[in-house]
Amino acid sequence: MPPLRAIILGPPGAGKGTILSRLVKHYNGAISTVSSGDLLREEIKKNPSSSIATTVAQGKLVPDQLMANLIFRSFEQEKIFQRSWILDGFPRNASQASILDSTLPESLNMVIHLDVPFRVILERIEGRWIHQPSGRVYNLLYNPPKVPGKDDITGEDLIKRPDDTVEVFQKRLDTYSALLGDLSDYYKKRGIFHTILGETSDVTYPKLLNLVEGFLKK
Ligand code: AMP
Repeated sequence: MPPLRAIILGPPGAGKGTILSRLVKHYNGAISTVSSGDLLREEIKKNPSSSIATTVAQGKLVPDQLMANLIFRSFEQEKIFQRSWILDGFPRNASQASILDSTLPESLNMVIHLDVPFRVILERIEGRWIHQPSGRVYNLLYNPPKVPGKDDITGEDLIKRPDDTVEVFQKRLDTYSALLGDLSDYYKKRGIFHTILGETSDVTYPKLLNLVEGFLKK
């Protein structure tokens, strides 16, 4: 099968991680995914007082070349270049897109745009509450706690994550919109841009699978 060299673009909270992990399972690991956020979180675990930790905690972007180095190091370590892969979270701006272009041995052959309406994402965020000690997540819309405001298992208080507010998310969505504008023009010209529209991963995942299957059969 021809190797897939793809990136996935989608707003924060759109469920990229969810549908990618379903895809990886479906292909039994024959498709790899690399997530820039996961790579950074691993670095932070190794060195919690690094400047990366501070930058990520502030919700700012780490320097482009540093991010690119982490991505390509992971590609080399995992021997991903020769296989099918989907990159999640990179590029985040035009400069990263051009670093990616100039570093890849063979150019991208698919850009997946996961288009989940911002209204849906904000509704989900607004309804999301967590039990901090365990990491259990509740949603007032889909899986509310049995007793309002309390964890089902321990009965302890639920909290809102400080970055899980509509205000913070609206800012992240605005940043994403600006990026999408830049990148979609850049990739549409090459004819490799595909949009997947849907509100939940049960709708978007089959569309992703269909797209990837169609490509790999070519
Ligand atoms: P994510 O898991 O994709 O939401 O990323 C978490 C955080 O990691 C972001 O808020 C940024 O601080 C940082 N980050 C992720 N991807 C990139 C990137 N491509 N360039 C710079 N910083 C990034």
